Amino acid sequence: VQVTEVLAIDVGGTSIKAARVRESGQLLSRRSVPTPVAAGPDAVVRAIAELAGALLADGVVGVGLVVPGVVDAARGVVEYATNVGWRDVPLAAVVGASVGVPVVLGKDVHAAALAERALGPARGVADCLIVAVGTGISAVAVSGGTPVRGARGLAGEVGHVSVDPHGELCPCGQRGCAERYASGAAIARRYAARAGVTRSASEVAAVIAADEHAAAVWAEAADALGAVLAACTLAFDPELIVLTGGVACAGAALRDPVAAALAARLTWRPAPAVCVSPLAADAGLHGAALLARLTWAATT
Ligand SMILES: [Zn+2]
Repeated sequence: VQVTEVLAIDVGGTSIKAARVRESGQLLSRRSVPTPVAAGPDAVVRAIAELAGALLADGVVGVGLVVPGVVDAARGVVEYATNVGWRDVPLAAVVGASVGVPVVLGKDVHAAALAERALGPARGVADCLIVAVGTGISAVAVSGGTPVRGARGLAGEVGHVSVDPHGELCPCGQRGCAERYASGAAIARRYAARAGVTRSASEVAAVIAADEHAAAVWAEAADALGAVLAACTLAFDPELIVLTGGVACAGAALRDPVAAALAARLTWRPAPAVCVSPLAADAGLHGAALLARLTWAATT
């Protein structure tokens, strides 16, 4: 059977996105539902299975499913996902049993990095940093053409680099984690606390020219991200930094202040180029599809 279409599912802390993906990379029948985090971890699993069932069509040979958090890809188990409340959930088996086709499980930022390296601005760049800024923040450093995974596969959790030792308390136990300022969830939360009005991160981005609260929250986010990217640059010396994920949909409104905050910290060496990916919010979906195809190609 020729692999024509796979079903890609990208589980985020805010929404679950899904689409059928052709071998050409074309996305079909896209759909998105809110992640029912408040209803509990089991409700999120059910929402994924329902979405998969609704989009499954003839010719779909399997599912590429990517999630935030710590994933044991070989066993298909989510060991830990803070934003969704999962601990040791055999997600690949549960969703696979529900839809009746094989499911490949992966970590969202690894999938996004696959997509950025195959289809996005990181293509052909041997030393780069791919940073996914969504509900949370995580990254993949690519060094000499190889993604850095680390001893436990935990490399790249740069959202928990502290940028202010006296800053906001983070659920991880530290203070001042970049994720408390620059993630989509943080931007929305900090804006609501300051302005008394609820806006999503993309809505905040759209009004920065006219709303002083939006401008202040956005500037703090960009500065926190710049501080993390400076630390990553000092550690890995990338040629290019690719910003992807939902918050990167803001485009130059994110790139420009982040690049300035980065350059301001690197006075003795040139700063790497910073770009926002045109894939942005779809990087996870493209990556989930690529991950599934690569896994099946390796095992058949
Ligand atoms: Zn933290």
